[in-house]
Amino acid sequence: GDGGQANIGVIGLAVMGSNLARNLASREGNTVAVYNRTYARTQELMDEHGDMGFIASEDIDGFVASLSKPRTAIIMVQAGKGTDAVIGQLAERFEEGDIIVDGGNANFHDTIRREHDLRDKGLNFVGTGISGGEEGALKGPSIMPGGSDEAWETLGPILRSIAAVAEGEPCVTHVGTDGAGHFVKMVHNGIEYADMQLIAESYDLLRRVGGHSTDDLVKVFEQWNEGDLESYLIEITGEVLKQQDPESGKALVDVIRDEAGSKGTGVWTVQNAVGLGVPVSGIGEAVFARAVSSKPAQRAAVRQAFPDRPDVVDVPDGFEDDVRAALYASKVVAYAQGFDLIIAGAKEYDWDISLGDMAKIWRGGCIIRAQFLNRIVEAYDKNPELESLLVDPYFADAVKEGEAAWRRIVGIAAASGVPAPGFSSALAYFDSLASDRLPASLIQGLRDFFGAHTYQRVDKDGTFHTLWSEDD
Ligand code: NAP
Repeated sequence: GDGGQANIGVIGLAVMGSNLARNLASREGNTVAVYNRTYARTQELMDEHGDMGFIASEDIDGFVASLSKPRTAIIMVQAGKGTDAVIGQLAERFEEGDIIVDGGNANFHDTIRREHDLRDKGLNFVGTGISGGEEGALKGPSIMPGGSDEAWETLGPILRSIAAVAEGEPCVTHVGTDGAGHFVKMVHNGIEYADMQLIAESYDLLRRVGGHSTDDLVKVFEQWNEGDLESYLIEITGEVLKQQDPESGKALVDVIRDEAGSKGTGVWTVQNAVGLGVPVSGIGEAVFARAVSSKPAQRAAVRQAFPDRPDVVDVPDGFEDDVRAALYASKVVAYAQGFDLIIAGAKEYDWDISLGDMAKIWRGGCIIRAQFLNRIVEAYDKNPELESLLVDPYFADAVKEGEAAWRRIVGIAAASGVPAPGFSSALAYFDSLASDRLPASLIQGLRDFFGAHTYQRVDKDGTFHTLWSEDD
């Protein structure tokens, strides 16, 4: 027959799926079918929000039957095995032209594999990044779908209806084919790691070197949120610092253990960047900083072996502004590196990705939403072929303006014994790119010496090997 009456279905009704289903059902024109492996979750959604017109099924056959053609279902289950299981169940029942969407945090390599397998069966598979956590899913996330043009024709209007809106535009675009959406979501998460690390370093320097109280810091971050750093993460930094712990009467941040966890998407970003030869040092330092923080025994041992720590240096006038400038310049580097990774991924996997559009769809709904992204949109509007975000005139001026402060802060951090891996590695990356000559020449010499790896010369073309004379 022609199937059922729901134009969209959601499978997996834990927090993300049920919120996404409610978001879909609240938009004009959508009738939403819902299904979850364990019926109790479906029952809970129906008890609380049954008036939203959901078509609920107790089994997968009922769910498939309730969908109109082309059948379109969004899977929001546990990434990995759960996703493969549900894809298998749908693939057995779906017909040519139907669309299976994975909205979970899949590894893009899995998405590429799944898309190719399902395409062989005539099915459309769309892996899509969805950012913004529970609240985003409910009120409007940033959505990064991959998949075919054919699938996008059906899915596009549905996703546009539920996405966050920024500057009047829905935060969703067809990123590229197969795994492009999940790849870009991965890079987004990596950038989120870098952003948070830079904020954390700013906080640490202001506190330990600047001597600011947590109350002071709330004001500093509120102020920063009114300038070019205006962003969700800076805003909630103020909120987090404001929070008091009723039990101890202290600022909550001071009773939270200083060991940062991770779910692994930052690690994927770095692994893939290493494979593609893209120096995402800002994201790398953020991943490593969390790893260092989570080694309490090692930290205690080194702390004991080195009890004499340097005194913090006296803060110069304008220290807070210097920290702000260092944060901004390092942030430009982190985004420049993240966009370089998208360029490299697009080349490797044959995706046609508009960098400006990526900055656009991150302006709302997601964790890294920021005013800053408007500047990136403008940069790629002006020149889609930018060699680096750093050379866009706006960002180049901003970096030049903050450069002296950035160097002061890295120097002060090092002299004071306060770790600032994000700030200092960003500066090293910048100086590497901006240097006339790099000591890579010596590395080439060493490689040729011990392994006859050859080198090239500055003064003529060709490949050279030297018969190195060993002193004896
Ligand atoms: P979750 O805790 O990751 O997964 C629980 C859901 O998966 C339940 O509906 C569960 O069904 C289902 N499930 C697990 N294995 C299954 C299987 N073999 N067959 C059928 N269903 C299975 O849920 P979540 O936190 O809502 O996240 C859903 C997805 O969104 C994940 O991929 C997650 O990474 C991604 N995501 C989460 C966030 C976030 O902020 N939480 C943000 C972005 C993306 P039962 O009820 O039957 O156990």
